[in-house]
Amino acid sequence: MFPPRDVEILAATATSALAVAGAISYFGMAPSSQIFGRCMVAAPNPLQIALTYDDGPNDAATPQLLDVLAQHKVRATFFLIGRFARQRPALVRTIAAAGHLIGSHTDTHPALLLCSNARIRQELQAGNAALEDILGQPVRWFRPPYGSRRPYALRQARALGLTPVLWNAMGYDWKPTTPQAVEQNLWRGFARNQLRGLATNALMHDGGHTGLGADRSHSVAATAALIARWRQHFAARHQHCEFVTPEAWA
Ligand SMILES: [Zn+2]
Repeated sequence: MFPPRDVEILAATATSALAVAGAISYFGMAPSSQIFGRCMVAAPNPLQIALTYDDGPNDAATPQLLDVLAQHKVRATFFLIGRFARQRPALVRTIAAAGHLIGSHTDTHPALLLCSNARIRQELQAGNAALEDILGQPVRWFRPPYGSRRPYALRQARALGLTPVLWNAMGYDWKPTTPQAVEQNLWRGFARNQLRGLATNALMHDGGHTGLGADRSHSVAATAALIARWRQHFAARHQHCEFVTPEAWA
């Protein structure tokens, strides 16, 4: 689940100060690197798919996404930004009431690699508090914004009872694009994970970190298309795919 390959790569590149600096910024952002501490990516089960959505809640997209997930009877994971959750508490409750897993995506979405220790603590605590005030239960899951992290951030997350979760397939849907492009990007990640015998932890966005109201209709449409395509793909092989959340991999 956590291959030592990254460690070997770091050792191989650590031949000059420049390479080390490059490696640090690479491993501080690379979605599957474990060099800065353990993060959950995906279990070795190619039949499992976790749909994960960052940067919500967002009333321009989250309700439509919830409709699609309900139609297809799929449970997903939402990593919410604390400051948006405080502005849209009813929508946060709606996500939870639909049975989806909710995790923290910090309070204001900074790149934690670049933050002071004090700021990291404040972002994680405030993000948790926003969700816990609304939901009345502890938050256990955390996704670092941009996948940006450093050892202190991961230690602090663990100290707060949070498991950091990254991803291994990306929709590249945080900018204006088409449902087809998002679908293709994620399918490419899925195909790569199949070859590696891994579950797919798919990253999409139902919000935009700069403000409420981001158009994510492409992500909503891609979600519907992908669920149907995955089910067909596995049915053709007399297999059944399972839509899971990171809880299944704990
Ligand atoms: Zn984000």
